[in-house]
Amino acid sequence: MWTIKMENIPYCNSVHFVRHKYGVEHYVQSQRKNPDRGAERQDAPVTHIMDINAQELIFMARKRLCFKADDITRLIMNVICSKIQKIDPVWETVLLPACGCDEKNCREFKPCGFYHIM
Ligand SMILES: [Zn+2]
Repeated sequence: MWTIKMENIPYCNSVHFVRHKYGVEHYVQSQRKNPDRGAERQDAPVTHIMDINAQELIFMARKRLCFKADDITRLIMNVICSKIQKIDPVWETVLLPACGCDEKNCREFKPCGFYHIM
């Protein structure tokens, strides 16, 4: 398991990670400090901490490294994977997008095309 702290990531990207719910617990900074919550921008910076197990990290990488994922979310996921791979290089062979793994095809309704093999 890892505890991953993401500081000052856009709120709209934080919600992409919050969608993952098995094997992960999220702690996201509240926007309640602003009495007019509707005034907070979607890209307001938040701190997001995840306690995540290995299986969910693999699953998250498979979804969030695909080129159909949001560009900033993919960038954040890349940073997470890079830092874990730096600690333990064995993760270089598992933290991959689904479309770059043994499945050989992007699983999105409209494939990203980057790893698509005819
Ligand atoms: Zn893909």
